[in-house]
Amino acid sequence: MRIFPVLAVASLATTLIAAPASAAPTLGPTAYGRGGGIATVDATATAAGLDVLRHGGNAIDAAVAAAATLGVTEPFVAGPASGGFLVYYDAKRHTVSTIDGREAGPATMTPTYFIDPADGLPYDFQEARVSGLSTGVPGALATWDTALRQWGTRSLASLLWPAAAVADRGFPVDAQFRQQINDNLAAFGQFDSTKALYLPGGAPPALGSTQRNPDLAATYRQIAAQGIGAFYRGPIGADLVKTVQHPPVSANPVGTWAYPIRPGVLTTDDLAAYRVRRPAPTVADFRGLSVYGMSTPSSGGTAVSEVLNILEKANPADVTQVLHTYLEASALAFADRGRYVGAYTSPDVLRKLASDRWAAQRACQISPVRALAKPVAPGDITASGCTPAAATLTPDNGLSTTNITVSDRWGNVVEWTFTLEQFGGNGIVVPGRGFMLNNELTDFNFAPTQGTAPDPNLPGPGKRPRSSMSPTIVLKDGKPFLAAGSPGGASIITTVLQILINRLVLGMPLPDALAAPRGSQRNTAGIQAEPAFHTTYGPALTALGHTFGPDVAEIGAATAMEFTPHGGVIAVAEPTRRGGGAAAVLRE
Ligand code: GLU
Repeated sequence: MRIFPVLAVASLATTLIAAPASAAPTLGPTAYGRGGGIATVDATATAAGLDVLRHGGNAIDAAVAAAATLGVTEPFVAGPASGGFLVYYDAKRHTVSTIDGREAGPATMTPTYFIDPADGLPYDFQEARVSGLSTGVPGALATWDTALRQWGTRSLASLLWPAAAVADRGFPVDAQFRQQINDNLAAFGQFDSTKALYLPGGAPPALGSTQRNPDLAATYRQIAAQGIGAFYRGPIGADLVKTVQHPPVSANPVGTWAYPIRPGVLTTDDLAAYRVRRPAPTVADFRGLSVYGMSTPSSGGTAVSEVLNILEKANPADVTQVLHTYLEASALAFADRGRYVGAYTSPDVLRKLASDRWAAQRACQISPVRALAKPVAPGDITASGCTPAAATLTPDNGLSTTNITVSDRWGNVVEWTFTLEQFGGNGIVVPGRGFMLNNELTDFNFAPTQGTAPDPNLPGPGKRPRSSMSPTIVLKDGKPFLAAGSPGGASIITTVLQILINRLVLGMPLPDALAAPRGSQRNTAGIQAEPAFHTTYGPALTALGHTFGPDVAEIGAATAMEFTPHGGVIAVAEPTRRGGGAAAVLRE
């Protein structure tokens, strides 16, 4: 039965509206309790979801409330033009299901979509990104609507109103928000609509000032009143398409942009044709646990499965060997996904990649005493022995995105990753609508990467680009034990793996498993590492022949949850990465 929670909504709206514009709720990164919980990167979004849980909503209701709020407070990674992947554990049916809300390319998209007709060469990444070409049909609203219809107890309208109130009231500009604008100054500065919202007076808003977005509030209210048809088949979608086809390039730009700003070819028919997909989750058995993940077009589920299967096969004995095997297996899995995984990979190939037989075939290449030279070659899916083919490098992708983890008093669990691709997507705010466009289509390979073998991730008509997003739910004896996910482009896969390995293999408590320093081997010459990972494990790993690339300040910004006996829950967000996240539980 669908319940329309008038009282709950009224109370939530009052709580949020009554707060002064500059007050973000104070929530720490870890919360222990019972009755469900929520973790996101943002205190306002966590509070919005928690309020729904408190008023009797379930995990899906709370997740949609949090996602809609993130569209306001994290507008450079979320919102109506984003897309992502949701993994859901249904406590009543004891099943794990998924929603693929990934962006889809235009019907006219061809494999040479990102090749410049003038010279026959692929566009530079930034040239493709900041254009109308990079925007795919967003899956966010279709995901919200589908999830609520299938599993929710609240109407979409009732969950959008509080987020609209946050957009109207505004929120305080913090260092992260300002940094994300600064990092995108030249891109944002090319468009009147983006300048007006994020570069008031030609510069990023001051720290602590109030960021309001009445256009987005009105967009949310229109969708609340008219349903998602207002977006996919109505005036909001028409505005989106107009913006893609005629980017609102400013006559008075802020900063200079090195490239022409190309129009896109997305149409209102493309929007009207969009449907979420419901692929079966991937599943790997790891030490008696069932690890559920996201199938294609994400490569997250198969890659996480492959690494865990290899790890189980190799059964490393100490911390150095665990990390060595994790890094080696990650390189192998990235080579394999580059060769085999794209939107249309056959179920047989996916099953093979996630199988113990494949893990055995790949694990036999790993030596405990000597790291493989990188890049490693993909395995031969048609063979059964250790038969590496010629090595190829797989291109990397972006660094933004967001993740939320939610559970409720009934035991349902939502693990959900969504994104605009880069921070700030393609840099263009839809005029009068208050939301930014995604640049998700740049997750396609612009040109073939696999030599003479076919590339599974070239653009195609209506095709969805390959992703690395890896929302993961782990069951123990058929019940939720752990859930985790992270942003971070291709490092999403390794971040989720490290959290799982830290918790399940190295026995760290979950908050430590998230806080621990990260290192990521994605089949490139050097390991990408946070400085603390490099310092702590560098000597032992270097002795085994690993090399390190330039260190990076941060990898990922995860959220996770552990379910303890008798209904206990530990909700965890990052303690420091990206300024620290916010976790809360229903009852402490
Ligand atoms: N677009 C990326 C993907 O789908 C995620 C972007 C990011 O996390 O930065 O894999």
